[in-house]
Amino acid sequence: MIERKCIVIGGGPAGSTCARKLKQAGLDVIIIDKEEFPRPKLCAGWITPKVLRDLEINPESYPHRLLIFNRLYFHLYGVKIPIKTKQYSIRRIEFDTWLLERSGVSVDQHRVQNIRKENGTYIIDDIYHCKYLIGAGGTNCPVYHTFFKGVNFRVPKQQIICMETEFPYDVQNTNCYLWFFDRGLKGYSWYVPKAGGYVNIGIGGNFHGIQGPGKALYSHWEHFIDTLNRLSLVNGNTFHPQGYSYYLRHKIQKVQLNNAFIIGDAVGLATRDMGEGIGPAVESGLLAANAIIHGSEYSQKSITRSSLFNIIFGHSGK
Ligand SMILES: Cc1cc2nc3c(=O)[nH]c(=O)nc-3n(C[C@H](O)[C@H](O)[C@H](O)COP(=O)(O)OP(=O)(O)OC[C@H]3O[C@@H](n4cnc5c(N)ncnc54)[C@H](O)[C@@H]3O)c2cc1C
Repeated sequence: MIERKCIVIGGGPAGSTCARKLKQAGLDVIIIDKEEFPRPKLCAGWITPKVLRDLEINPESYPHRLLIFNRLYFHLYGVKIPIKTKQYSIRRIEFDTWLLERSGVSVDQHRVQNIRKENGTYIIDDIYHCKYLIGAGGTNCPVYHTFFKGVNFRVPKQQIICMETEFPYDVQNTNCYLWFFDRGLKGYSWYVPKAGGYVNIGIGGNFHGIQGPGKALYSHWEHFIDTLNRLSLVNGNTFHPQGYSYYLRHKIQKVQLNNAFIIGDAVGLATRDMGEGIGPAVESGLLAANAIIHGSEYSQKSITRSSLFNIIFGHSGK
């Protein structure tokens, strides 16, 4: 039996941030993740200056690909709106692995299947015991499903489905382009170049808005590829996108039950306007760690709900 004071399930940005903070405070912590890192993660990889600040990352000393955007090109119902701002792109496969290593916390590769609570102790698959259990396992987090599902019902209308692909490309245009409600899509599409010759393209939208005859996500994908070709952002039409689903911020009742916590996508914290999830994952990881360290209340209420406001008015920092 492996016994730790704190166990974090999930080594994405939420889990590694929380575990790092707990370790810095001298707590005995491990991370369990079903994947071996580096692991791919479907994500456009756009991050705000606030994410870098919260993570105490100096952009100049980050050792992997990091591209700065001084302008974002928004397209709203086909109208192009350039917005002066300062945002970044990273590759998740590099970023997540680096964050995990930087946390200094040991990681066990194990797929968590069963969790129970006995006499104030959480027991995971009859292998691990802990006092504090942190669920950072993303949309299908086992901590959410075991303890929180009954109190935080996920609202179907906040479910986002996405298709995206990231690949090496001779990038000529290093600006970030975003389309909202393009050609009837109830959602958005993106072109996010990365430093060092990679690009990420994808579309995402409300699950219910996309279902139905002629509205399937795949037909929007074909329109989207036409647009990228027309603007010479990406040439060709043979891509192999993968799909994923996650939840935008909705009414959340509980993020802590006794000594069990949920953070990041396990809660469903992505911003309602742009589906930004990395920032809220990091923020919630820090808040949960602080609550454990100081014995204070953990709440998601202070976490960013909107991305656009911060992008336009610079409240996410420059
Ligand atoms: C297509 C797409 C594009 C996106 N683009 C952006 C973007 O540009 N910017 C942005 O801010 N957000 C974006 N997001 C959202 C963002 O990716 C997520 O909100 C963010 O990854 C949440 O981090 P997390 O640490 O909570 O979860 P994750 O990063 O999903 O990490 C969860 C971890 O838990 C592990 N795990 C799961 N189940 C188990 C188990 N049973 N046992 C052990 N381990 C387990 C997984 O292996 C994984 O490593 C995008 C999402 C999608 C789908």
